[in-house]
Amino acid sequence: MSKLPVDVGIIYEGERIRKANMYADLAGPKSKGAELLKVVAASKVKDGSVTVIGPDLKDMKEGSAYPFGVSIEVSGKKLEEDLEGVFERRIHDFMNYIQGMMHLNSRDIIWCRISKEANKAGLGLNHVGQAMVDLFKAEFDVIEKIQVTFYTDDKKIDKFLKDARAAYEKRDAKVRGLKDEDVDTFYGCLLCQSFAPKHVCTITPSRTSSCGSITWFEGRAAVKVDPKGPIFAVEKGEVIDLEKGEYSGINEMTVERSNGEVERVYLHSLFDYPHTSCGCFEAIGFYIPEVDGIGVVHRDFRGVTPFGIPFSTMAGQVGGGVQSEGFQGMAIEYMRSSKFFAADGGWQRTVWMPKALKDRIGNDIPEDVRDKIATEEEATDLDSLKAFLKEKNHPVVARWKEAVQASADGGIAVSQFEMPVAGVPMAGGGMTIIFKNAKIYAEKVIIKRNDK
Ligand code: SF4
Repeated sequence: MSKLPVDVGIIYEGERIRKANMYADLAGPKSKGAELLKVVAASKVKDGSVTVIGPDLKDMKEGSAYPFGVSIEVSGKKLEEDLEGVFERRIHDFMNYIQGMMHLNSRDIIWCRISKEANKAGLGLNHVGQAMVDLFKAEFDVIEKIQVTFYTDDKKIDKFLKDARAAYEKRDAKVRGLKDEDVDTFYGCLLCQSFAPKHVCTITPSRTSSCGSITWFEGRAAVKVDPKGPIFAVEKGEVIDLEKGEYSGINEMTVERSNGEVERVYLHSLFDYPHTSCGCFEAIGFYIPEVDGIGVVHRDFRGVTPFGIPFSTMAGQVGGGVQSEGFQGMAIEYMRSSKFFAADGGWQRTVWMPKALKDRIGNDIPEDVRDKIATEEEATDLDSLKAFLKEKNHPVVARWKEAVQASADGGIAVSQFEMPVAGVPMAGGGMTIIFKNAKIYAEKVIIKRNDK
């Protein structure tokens, strides 16, 4: 490793740089940016070169946010296009190895931060680029030549952003015709275990990785060049439930790779055993019990969901590698899958998403339900959401009627209700039992006023 003014190593991977200690933000919510790795011809790569287009770190104003484009071009006789997304995802690890630099997320939602100490030590983008060159070459001997270009200029980054988005679309589109039942092998990824120790991603044709960066084809290419790496092949095994997306091979792999913490996974449901969520998912799918529907919120949305909380709060509650029933971190591309929460009703049960997200995937939403899905413009809370769905006669409205209809033998069917457990102290959160799809029988119902 070339000499840098700060240390570089895996021990810095979990380093968090808080706002008070921030020198500058690169990309992130207050600016724009993207990362793109391309496999190109050897003649187009000047091996080891690092170029900065725009201000370098020392010329930035402390406390400000700047655009940040990371373009890495590699060449090598054994390289193929399907490896681009896999290598690109490693930018996240490698930038986090740099002391005083933090990298979050992927693709065009990256967010990097430089600490005050790193700036004081003299860290520049040329050093960051040099670290990328050294780390990529050390990790992948199939990379013969590599060059790095950073864009921090507010105008010059725009063409790069356009090219990066076109490249992501090309990668995602390649897998769209394929379904889970068309293949025998899925892929697993452990890259996020440094942040979320129980998290294991299962990458299938119908469910791309939660970060949106690694498709099934890219998982397959990764295993070919790095068979002992963090991405590995998994035999599907027996199909336990096709609609929910439960497979014996995935369950066995998840038990083993999560150290026994997660025993079952439904790839295409929010309920019972949803896929675990790490922290770099592009969006969150969430169940809204009050309307018995599904909402989706993406990372770029700055407003609040009908629950009254923004993406960041929800992400903090569901991330970390846990299985949170009713919530799932996911890629935006998953909404284009024919198996998008298929076991729960998919689009026929989807009731809310931010307008920007709806505009982005608009043509992939089935026409019969497209205008019945609310955005923040129609519904800002649960009451306005309910009124909108009723007015539009969204398919979930029929479920409400079924849910309250007394059953023929006198029971009341409810989709969900919650009951606090008596005697469990509330300090520390207490305990609540949630009943789903329950039928209630009672000789007598007593409703008591709570005067407190
Ligand atoms: S979100 Fe999943 S696929 Fe993406 S890097 Fe993390 S573990 Fe791997």
